[in-house]
Amino acid sequence: MSQPALDAALEDWRRSLPPEAVLTGSELDPYHINCLSLDRVIPAALRPTSEADVLQIVQIARRHKTRLYAFSTGHNWGYGTALPVADNCVLVDLSRMNRILSMDPDLGLVTLEPGVTQKQLYDYLAERGLDFFVPTTGAGPTASVLANALERGFGMTPIEDHFAAVTSLRAVLANGTVYQPYMSGIGATTADGVYKWGLGPYLDGLFTQSNFGIVTSAQIALVRRPEHTEVFLFTQQRGTTLAAMVDACREMMADLRGPLGGVKFLNRKQVENTFGVAKVGPGFPEDYDWAAVGVLHGTRAMVPALRKGVRRGLQAQVSALRFVNDEKIVWLRRLGSLAPGSLKRSLLDAAARVEQVMHIMHGNPRGLELRLAYRYVPLPKAQPWDPVRDGVGIFWYAPVLPLKGEIITRLCDMAVATLGKYGFDQTISFTTLSERCAIGVVPIIYRKTEAEETKKAHECFHTLWREGEALGCPPYRINIAAMPELSDPARSVYFQMVQALKSALDPDDILSPGRYGPS
Ligand SMILES: Cc1cc2nc3c(=O)[nH]c(=O)nc-3n(C[C@H](O)[C@H](O)[C@H](O)COP(=O)(O)OP(=O)(O)OC[C@H]3O[C@@H](n4cnc5c(N)ncnc54)[C@H](O)[C@@H]3O)c2cc1C
Repeated sequence: MSQPALDAALEDWRRSLPPEAVLTGSELDPYHINCLSLDRVIPAALRPTSEADVLQIVQIARRHKTRLYAFSTGHNWGYGTALPVADNCVLVDLSRMNRILSMDPDLGLVTLEPGVTQKQLYDYLAERGLDFFVPTTGAGPTASVLANALERGFGMTPIEDHFAAVTSLRAVLANGTVYQPYMSGIGATTADGVYKWGLGPYLDGLFTQSNFGIVTSAQIALVRRPEHTEVFLFTQQRGTTLAAMVDACREMMADLRGPLGGVKFLNRKQVENTFGVAKVGPGFPEDYDWAAVGVLHGTRAMVPALRKGVRRGLQAQVSALRFVNDEKIVWLRRLGSLAPGSLKRSLLDAAARVEQVMHIMHGNPRGLELRLAYRYVPLPKAQPWDPVRDGVGIFWYAPVLPLKGEIITRLCDMAVATLGKYGFDQTISFTTLSERCAIGVVPIIYRKTEAEETKKAHECFHTLWREGEALGCPPYRINIAAMPELSDPARSVYFQMVQALKSALDPDDILSPGRYGPS
């Protein structure tokens, strides 16, 4: 992009947008900070407040052949934050497009803009007495609901796979038109919202992990909170392998499909870095290698049968299987307040830890898991925490894991060895998305102030990525530094097709060049 073209585009954007919507110079400083220690040339940032603004932005970019890079709240910590894949992209910061456009409480369908955060949706529902789960993630209250779904992120509230809950969306295309699915296009927006696949070729998915459009709103299916939610916690039994525990878990999930939500396995270091202590709680062994937490949703009447099913499924492989719900936490607190000496502290701390877990399971975003990222920087006293502002260095390695004990064990062994080789904490967890699949979550947490450590973090990620692929477990999502290597069309017919689609939809490569595709 030439300087005269950029100047001309800026002049047009300034004419068509209010002054506070066009940022240049030092106003761009916050956009440069990122958790991967990358540098990008960012000439300007635009802050639209409506789809009409986005249309104008794209039409002007098209006229002057200027590159754009859109994001929603820019909290893509560990994957790129708000940085573009390529240099010289004008950022399109959609965080001011933060309206909840509609909510159908009967069908549990919300339509929202990209800037709507988890906390905002939580407050909106609470104020109206609408008892639905917010799609909650470890990124916490300030992250965008819509962007997480576009990255195909996941959490532990139903529907765990966040793009699975997106039933319809609108996107501005590079040619200056607005995409919407056929059904919405003829005015049947509710039908479109209840039936994800629409009519005709399914195209909404093209806007996830891609650069085919700027998504301006989406309809998302929310799940009503059931009468009862409780978690179960367990640790690995002495003499049992991780593989045996995973296999038992898969069989249990197949049996209890529906009321049984996700199960998250955490190695000891992950527990320690998340909660500040490695101890799970009173009654749990202290020398465990793996702990896990699962969640059950249903009516009160279902609870005894569900607990029985979990016990039957897991008991042979796990130790200290405990069921905890809100009432039990109150009871644990009461018991703690009456207990003497160190038992008091132990019970009250355990109650506080499980309560944090219950917040996540209830879909109440509090940002508990962000603590993990603050390994080398002090935790701020005030919420909300913001890893990028606070100087956190983190890469995520998140492989797709077929839910087979043997495969998961091999992958975990490789991750432990690789993290150890580079000198990073061997922090590993994986969360089931179904009785077939889990996603591994391996952070590389490093000191951004140390040049050598930063270099090692990049290398460590690359080794994990490639060694994981050799074991048959590619990442479900990848950081911006890895995208050019990922999408080299010379190496894959898949990316040749992506390139052909991109050329048809965006021949001048205006939108997010290089994002999950060849530039
Ligand atoms: C400690 C910690 C825990 C985390 N836990 C989780 C977790 O549990 N689950 C999880 O999924 N992630 C997790 N993350 C990763 C990440 O922070 C979240 O996924 C977060 O939601 C992404 O940031 P965002 O919502 O602001 O998305 P953005 O940064 O706004 O968007 C991400 C990318 O999507 C594209 N994009 C966004 N919006 C649009 C749009 N409207 N149109 C076109 N393209 C768009 C852009 O390319 C953008 O760069 C965690 C991170 C940390 C540090």
